Amino acid sequence: MAQSRPVTRFAPSPSGELHLGHAFSALSAWQAAGGDRRRFILRIEDLDPGRARPEFEKAIYEDLAWLGLSWETPVRRQSEHMDEYRTHLDVLEGLGLLYPCFCTRSEIKAEIKAAASAPHISEGPDGPHYPGTCRHLDPATRQARQDAGDAFALRLDMEKALKLATQRCGPLSWTDAIKGEVEARPELFGDVVLARKDVPTSYHLAVTVDDHVQGIALVVRGEDLFEATHVHRLLQALLRFDTPQYHHHRLIVDETGQRLAKRDQATALKTLRNKGATAQEILTRLGFAP
Ligand code: GLU
Repeated sequence: MAQSRPVTRFAPSPSGELHLGHAFSALSAWQAAGGDRRRFILRIEDLDPGRARPEFEKAIYEDLAWLGLSWETPVRRQSEHMDEYRTHLDVLEGLGLLYPCFCTRSEIKAEIKAAASAPHISEGPDGPHYPGTCRHLDPATRQARQDAGDAFALRLDMEKALKLATQRCGPLSWTDAIKGEVEARPELFGDVVLARKDVPTSYHLAVTVDDHVQGIALVVRGEDLFEATHVHRLLQALLRFDTPQYHHHRLIVDETGQRLAKRDQATALKTLRNKGATAQEILTRLGFAP
C-alpha cells in the first residue's frame, strides 16, 4: 500500500523574486507531500499592500512550474480572506483577549527607551516587548479614541491568553521534525499584534487560520520562522484548531554564510534560468536529485 503523505504547503509572499532558499523550501514541502499536486498547497501571502505585486505572483507560478512542481487551483490569496480572519478575531475578542492599541511605532520606541532601565520591559525574538501602554487604558478613553476614529491595531493580551489556553489544553507544545517535542513559549513575544492598523489581520493570525482552513498536516518552512510557531501554537489552542506537525528546515546561505535575501539577484531562480541553468541542476545543487 502506498504510504500516506501529509498535506503540506509553500506560502511565499509576492514581494520579490524567488531565490534558491525559496526553491529549497518549496521542494522540501513538495517532497514531503510525495510529489502529489493534491497534497501540495501553494498559498500567496499578499497581506502587505505596499509590497505585494501581481508580477511577482506570476513569477512565483513560473519558477515553481519550471522546477517541476504542480498544485491545485485556485490558489488561496490571503488578501481575499479578510472576512474569515475577522471571524476569528471576533472569537478572540469574545474571549476578552484583544485590546485596541493606538500607539505609533515611535511612541512605542520612546516608551521602551524611557523604560529601558525598568525591569518590566522584556525582550523577545522580535525585539523588546510592547510595553503595554494601551492595555492599561481605561475603558472611557479607549471608547473615546475609537469614536474619534483614531487608527488602532488589535493586540493579544498575552498573559490572559496563555492562562486561558493552558487551562483548556494544559502545557502547549508542538512536534518538530528536527527538534522533536518543543514546548510552546508564546510569552516570549509579549502582546503580539493580531490585526494591523493598515490591514485587518496579521501574519500570525492569517497563517494560523489558513493552515487550519486548508487542512495542512505538515508545515514545512525555514528555521527563521521557528520562533513564530510559539505564537501559532497558542492561537491554535485559543481557536480550537488542530496542531499540524512542523518541519523548520535549515536556511540556504551564500558563500559568505549570509542567508539569501529577495533583493539579492544572483540567486534568483529567474536569473539562474536566464543564465542557462536547468531545473535539474537546481535540484541537484539543493540536494533533491543526484
Ligand atoms: N510568507 C512567509 C514568507 O514568505 C512564509 C510564511 C510561512 O511559511 O509561515 O516568508
